[in-house]
Amino acid sequence: MAFSVRATSSSAHHIARNVVSKTRSSCSSSLASKRSQGMQGKKMSPSSSSIPFRFSSSGRKSAMTVQAAADGPVCVVTGASRGIGAAIATQLGAQGCRVVVNYAASSGPAEEVCKTIKASGGDAIAVQANVAKQEEVDALFKAAVDAFGEVNVLVNNAGITRDTLMMRMKLAQWQEVIDLNLTGVFLCTQAACKIMGKKKPVKGRIINITSVVGVTGNAGQANYSAAKAGVIGLTKTVAREYAGRNIQCNAIAPGFIASDMTAELGPEIEAKILTTIPAGKYGQPEDIAGMVRFLALDPAAAYITGQTIHVDGGMVM
Ligand code: NDP
Repeated sequence: MAFSVRATSSSAHHIARNVVSKTRSSCSSSLASKRSQGMQGKKMSPSSSSIPFRFSSSGRKSAMTVQAAADGPVCVVTGASRGIGAAIATQLGAQGCRVVVNYAASSGPAEEVCKTIKASGGDAIAVQANVAKQEEVDALFKAAVDAFGEVNVLVNNAGITRDTLMMRMKLAQWQEVIDLNLTGVFLCTQAACKIMGKKKPVKGRIINITSVVGVTGNAGQANYSAAKAGVIGLTKTVAREYAGRNIQCNAIAPGFIASDMTAELGPEIEAKILTTIPAGKYGQPEDIAGMVRFLALDPAAAYITGQTIHVDGGMVM
């Protein structure tokens, strides 16, 4: 029985929180978790169409065709205990992937994500690591290889905000965001490429979660938008360096994803934000996870590299 990737359509509910010039506006939400946790454990729709899984850019017979559900690609997802990362890990797990669920502090939620993945036919381990620190990144990837033997997919999702107007921003607020949101992506990418390059034939897929504010900028987010813009540049460079070695690197730029934090904005600001989104609705973590699933697993994505794909209800175009 060939392993297959089930494609689902998810309803998009988008919000354009980050075009509002308010210091409190942010593209990362620690509060997105509750809504994203709502999708954990949700099985793929029975009406979903099947896409044969071949993890190859060439389409040749040597492509990795997976026989058993829990023999799927090994996917390291950073910041997968909550929010968008939890949705990504859960969707990849539901495709039979072996997922490394990284987290910084939320061990309980990370273990829950692992349970959900196992219940849906995938395999998972939770690994605590601050991905802004090289030694912890090294330990994260060692744990991945110790558990599953290889790394096929890296999703650089972990991110934080420390919002305030540029003139008020302390160096520590700048540095903390750059260290995780940009340097962390670099460290994990370097670690993953080392492992991906060891197994012949070399193949791998790297997906970086950036943000529309990395393209547009946003008042109150000098640190965050600079880091996210840096991720876009890093994505293109990695794509150029590794295109010939069968490792694709792409970025996803979410717009505003429904979360408790966006709910906190209140109906007035929310109404204002919604006028800036052509789709007129908020995004859900599943919308981002669906694009990750495509870029990470679908054979049709094998010739896509160096791109930043906006999943934002048409907010930035
Ligand atoms: P959340 O705040 O909901 O979740 C953040 C995740 O990152 C958690 O799993 C957290 O782990 C983890 N994390 C935090 N610090 C570290 C660290 N030092 N090392 C490892 N993991 C860490 O964020 P979102 O789901 O909202 O955002 C996910 C990504 O999407 C981020 O990169 C964000 O910038 C981006 N994004 C989000 C948008 C949105 O509207 N939500 C819009 C555009 C982009 P723990 O639970 O242990 O703290």
